[in-house]
Amino acid sequence: MIGGLTVSPKKRYYCKVMLESSGGERQKSGSGHESPAELSVKGPFYAGGLRFSCQRCSACCRFESGYVYLSRQDVSLLRTALDMPYDKFIEKYCRWVPEWNGKSRLSLKEKRNYDCIFWSKEHGEGCRVYKERPLQCRTFPFWPSIMESKDNWEMTAQDCPGTGEGELHSRDSIEKMLAKRRMEPIIFRDI
Ligand code: SF4
Repeated sequence: MIGGLTVSPKKRYYCKVMLESSGGERQKSGSGHESPAELSVKGPFYAGGLRFSCQRCSACCRFESGYVYLSRQDVSLLRTALDMPYDKFIEKYCRWVPEWNGKSRLSLKEKRNYDCIFWSKEHGEGCRVYKERPLQCRTFPFWPSIMESKDNWEMTAQDCPGTGEGELHSRDSIEKMLAKRRMEPIIFRDI
């Protein structure tokens, strides 16, 4: 039990990315997709805002393998917080994830038990770099792949107890998060 919530190691949703797809996030299919004409009349399903407050249950940072991809801004913030030179930071905390197109993406490492490399019991059972955590973590669950449809949002809510609870995030703030993801691309290199 953590923070009043039972965390099962069998939880399936994970805010680390599950696949190495070119979109960078696990894609879920569903019937919640609407046509451009419908969207122009009603707006996206989140037009009235969505509730989310992280319950700090750690279910999305542990237990299953996944990827936390990093942008230049992420690396810069983390290196500053940890006071580490670039090469040392990459060697100690990062891995390159190969893609189908001859490139690889920079991701955080994970421990042998699949916990995020920065998840720690010594920090109140949580992220030891929470204030400087990567944009992928900071914007969960307002990811492009989840905001694609109401079905995807509802599927996420089944596994994340913070989804649908607490703070109301307006359409404007959600779209700012989506735009931020576009403006801070993941670091790639040739394999
Ligand atoms: S409430 Fe959701 S976002 Fe917060 S730690 Fe739990 S699973 Fe992750």
